[in-house]
Amino acid sequence: MTKKEERLKKQQQIMEEKGIIYLDNVTKSYSTGSPAINGITLSIHKGEFVFIVGDSGSGKSTLIRLLLRELTATTGEIYVMGQNVAKIRHGKIPQYRRNLGVVFQDFRLLNDRNVYDNVAFAQRVVEVPNREIRRNVPAILATVGLAGKYKAKTTQLSGGEQQRVALARALVNKPSILLADEPTGNLDPHNSWEIMGLLEEINERGTTVVVVTHNREIVNAMKKRVIAMKKGIIVSDMEEGVYNDEDDEEN
Ligand code: ADP
Ligand code: MG
Repeated sequence: MTKKEERLKKQQQIMEEKGIIYLDNVTKSYSTGSPAINGITLSIHKGEFVFIVGDSGSGKSTLIRLLLRELTATTGEIYVMGQNVAKIRHGKIPQYRRNLGVVFQDFRLLNDRNVYDNVAFAQRVVEVPNREIRRNVPAILATVGLAGKYKAKTTQLSGGEQQRVALARALVNKPSILLADEPTGNLDPHNSWEIMGLLEEINERGTTVVVVTHNREIVNAMKKRVIAMKKGIIVSDMEEGVYNDEDDEEN
């Protein structure tokens, strides 16, 4: 076996044994205050759908940013798809991030471009040939229910439609993992359900999905794994979980 083959085999093994996402006693401290993540050990396996709930300030977004390698852990180890993310060289980070689709509460679209270009952009940066882009973009827009909206300016879309564009952009490169940080935070109940339904469909087609949310009604209805965080630690982790009152002081 070549060195590369050996490395890939080891990654595969970690992924099978520990999960597609694996945190081993992870702490993240910012320069001020108590640690945002305070000794978390967690496995998420390939194909899972997981909700992460908890008060604001409990460390949910920090966890997402650690997975994206926007931040590095202060102590402990994080493995994503079997790779120790702290060991990924700077130049390899863009390649690493292709495994991860991500959506945020505030959509983060390019508002001077139309729907098609917002999604195509994600493919252009990873140098997908134009011929393939012209095939992939309409296909993914159809998946999120936006066939026929290619030419619309993002500013002319409703919030629900904008989040679908963001979702299409996150998915067009076929990531193994989709991370969503409060994806329905700016949406009305109807659109929130639609987006969550899409996330569930995406999961059913094999993508591992991690959703940070405050939406109690949806969490309780969907019967997925629910991880509750509080002050940087995991206070509960349940299959077919519910959103407990003590998980969120705000609601
Ligand atoms: P959540 O997403 O659950 O609301 P965060 O991960 O955003 O929580 O924040 C967790 C804690 O870390 C909070 O106390 C927050 O103030 C702090 N924090 C988050 N980002 C930063 C930062 N860039 N610099 C310093 N402290 C931060
Ligand atoms: Mg947050």
